[in-house]
This record gives sequence, structure tokens and C-alpha cells, in this order.
Amino acid sequence: MFKHENKLFINGEWIDSTNDETINVINPATEEVIGTISASTSEDLDKAVQAARDALPAFSRTIKKERIDLLNRIADEYEKRKDEFIDVMTLELGAPRTISENVHYEMGLAHFRTVAKALEDYSFEEERGGHTVVKESVGVSGLITPWNFPTNQTSTKIAGAIAAGSTIVLKPSEETPYAAIMLAEIIEKAGAPKGVFNLVNGTGDTIGDGISSHPDIDFVSFTGSGAVGTKVMENASQTIKNVALELGGKSPLFVLKDADLQKAAKSAAQHMMLNSGQVCSAGTRILVPKEMQSDFETALVQALDKFKMGDPQDTANFTGPLISKKQYDTVQSYIKKGQEEGARLVEGGEGKPDGLETGYYVKPTIFSDVSNDMVIAREEIFGPVTAIITYDDIEEGLRIANDTPYGLAGYVIGEDEKSLKYVASNIRAGQITVNDAKTDHLAPFGGFKQSGIGREWGDFGIEEYLEEKAIMGV
Ligand code: NAD
Repeated sequence: MFKHENKLFINGEWIDSTNDETINVINPATEEVIGTISASTSEDLDKAVQAARDALPAFSRTIKKERIDLLNRIADEYEKRKDEFIDVMTLELGAPRTISENVHYEMGLAHFRTVAKALEDYSFEEERGGHTVVKESVGVSGLITPWNFPTNQTSTKIAGAIAAGSTIVLKPSEETPYAAIMLAEIIEKAGAPKGVFNLVNGTGDTIGDGISSHPDIDFVSFTGSGAVGTKVMENASQTIKNVALELGGKSPLFVLKDADLQKAAKSAAQHMMLNSGQVCSAGTRILVPKEMQSDFETALVQALDKFKMGDPQDTANFTGPLISKKQYDTVQSYIKKGQEEGARLVEGGEGKPDGLETGYYVKPTIFSDVSNDMVIAREEIFGPVTAIITYDDIEEGLRIANDTPYGLAGYVIGEDEKSLKYVASNIRAGQITVNDAKTDHLAPFGGFKQSGIGREWGDFGIEEYLEEKAIMGV
């Protein structure tokens, strides 16, 4: 069904793996196999790393204009395949068509365009009194990406690496590999020099682990779970490789006393339902003033009406299934745990929604009377499940907001500018959004605390792939 489904893209060519074994890719809305990918081997990975190493000397010395042009040509080719991207992400991720288009397709495109723009203004050399600082490509980069945003996460990394003159070996998630295969086709069509971009599909244990420990890879950028991020960092430490880690989150959505209830509820419902809650930066700890709790619960249940769940092919739906049976079971166990811990179920609960028995659909679930020490308030659930936690005053709200091992994002909703700014400045997280402000892809994205190391997007994303060199005397 997909032209290059079992192929690897290495040194500018589509080749077979040394292994005949394949991995099934499943449509999470129908539970049917939609295709396969190669379960590549360490030998395949070595070939890709060698191709990236061979391409490095020339590519790292290209002039900036060449790399800006390449990024823009990639964006142009990407745009030509819009309809296909929508089809593919709806099939492999189960994202409703409108979300595949307005979120996944658009974010993937935005990174190529914004990084190209950021590169225009970026200076790789700086005179500083007695010395010059030159920023050079970090070398060969290994990129490892998860399934929840198949284009966004791969394209932000690829764009940053290309901008910096780094050559690439990408291993996308085995659950959503086809958007990455399309990206490889696009990069080939855009005329990237041979070996600059290489794609190796396969399992995390073989290819992911192989990338993070490979002696000829200089830098690893990983997005995924904290558990795997820890392994990546451990492996990388053996060869003193730098790492960028974009990990999980459990972000607060802080509703101020003067917030418009309907607006706040709509925002909370959207956080809960977007991408079926499989968003690392989702605001799913809703901090609500105690006296507003009951009205907020009613408003949130009503707001859910606008976020329909169902067949991703139906454009009326906002939310589809979860990615896999494994993810479905994990989310079910959190819903069970929340009730055992004494949280009050306001909406939803265990099991599948009526009429959605096939596919990994989960009932949109709202918990209230949640205390911040419950497991459902501390761990990332990654499903359409949210938790209402009450606070008495702003200081208590902030203490709860920051009482988490994570620090990826934070959200504030309200009217009084001083309070909005105060809360925004005091949440310890990498990206704070006030009153649902539009996402700016030039703003840095990444986590404090256990949400990760490093920043992606725009010029911050370029710097991930650079080393600083000081030159004195000339
Ligand atoms: P995951 O950690 O299981 O997998 C991520 C990638 O790592 C996949 O490509 C996988 O094959 C690979 N992998 C698995 N084992 C590996 C190993 N031993 N060594 C190296 N690589 C290995 O995560 P997932 O389930 O695909 O994605 C969900 C997680 O990603 C969530 O925790 C979510 O919060 C996080 N995430 C973070 C961000 C962010 O930007 N901070 C964005 C999206 C998702």
C-alpha cells in the first residue's frame, strides 16, 4: 500500500534491510494491519551512520544560503503532499482528518519554514574582544521520535539539524512510520545531498538503543517517555555524547478567580481531547478556585459536547482512538486507579464509549476532588482524562502547580493582567500559554525538571545541533 513501506533510505537510496523480518503497523480505529516496516538490524544502522559520516565534511561546510534553500525546497515538496499526509496520519495515528490537517500537517510544515526563517538571521560567528566564537555543526545526529506527533517531532529535529549542517540518522516510532517515510521521500525530492538524511526503521531495542550508544554518532535528540529517555542518556554517557531529551509532562492549567468559566472550560476540554489526550504538553491538572469547583465541573461537562469522539475519517469528529491496545490498557488502569484513590468521577469511567467497541477508544473522563498526591495527578496518563484540583489562593495554586516532577508547559486563564503575569512567571515550566494564545513556532519548546534537556523550535532548535569553538590569535 505504501511505496517504500519496507525500505530504508540510506545514502540517497531506498534499500532493503539485511533482515527479512517486518513489523506490523496497525490502524488504531479499525485494529487492522495497514502495512509493515522492516525490523532493521545493527548492520543497517551502521550503514546509515557511515553514510551520514561520509556526507558530513561537505554538508557541514555548506554556506547558510544553501541550507536555507534546502529547507524551503523541503517545505515546498511537503506542501505538495498535503492530502497524502492527512490520509496517512489519519490511518496510522487515528487522528481525525481535521486534526491531521490543522495540527499535524501544519506543525510539520511550520518547522521547516520557521527554521529557514530563523536561519536567515542566525550568525555562526561572533567577535568577542580577544577571541572569536565560531558555531560549528555537532556532527552526525541520531534522531529518535515517538508516535503521538509523527510530523511535528520529526520535522522540528530534521529542520534544526539541516540548518546547523549536521547529518542525520532518523528512527521514527514503529507505530507511526509512514509519515516519516513520506518525509524521507520529500527530502530526497528536495535534492538533499546523498547521506545527509538517512532513515532506519525498526524497534527501539535494536535501532533506538543502537543510535544512543553508537560511537560514530555525535549527538542524540530523543522525544519520548522518561523511562526510555533515561536509557538514552545512560547509553550516550558511554561515549560522552550530548543529548537533547523531550520527555513527558503533567502540566497545570491554572484558572484564575476572574476567569470566564465557559472560556476556561472550553480550554480544559480541548486539552483533554486534542489528539485523544496524547499530548506531552496537555494541561490536565486543572487548578480551579475552590468556590468555582461545582460550576466549573458543569461547564466542563457541557464543553465536552463540542469535542466529538468517533471515526477519524468523519470530519465532524475532533477526537479519535488511542494509538494502541497497550496505550488503551494503560489509560484504563489509570481510570481505575483514580477511583480507588478516592477521586470523584464526574464524567466517563472505565470501558469503551457506546458504539465505539472496535478501535482503541476511551471514554472522555473527568475526575474531581483530586489531590495532588494521587497517582492520577502525578503521572502522565496520555488519554482523554483530566483532573480537577482546587485551591484557596494564588500562592496555594502555585505551590500545587509546581509540585510535580515535570516542567514542560503551563497554562493560565483569567482577566487581571497582573495576576496572569504573576502566575505565568512563577510556574516552573518551559512554555507558558496565557488565555490560549496562538502557538509561536519560533518560541523555544522544551522542559524543566524531568520533562527534559534542551530546547527545540526556531533558532533554539538550530543551536541544539551546534558546538561552540573559540579561536584566539587570528
Ligand atoms: P517511547 O519512549 O516508548 O518511544 C519513543 C521512541 O523511542 C520510539 O521511536 C521507540 O521505538 C524508541 N525506543 C524504545 N525503546 C528504546 C530504547 N531502549 N532506546 C532508544 N530508543 C528506544 O515513547 P512513546 O510511547 O512512543 O511516546 C510517548 C511518550 O513521549 C510520552 O511519555 C510523551 O510525553 C513523550 N513525548 C514527549 C514530547 C515532548 O516534546 N516533550 C512530545 C511527544 C511525546
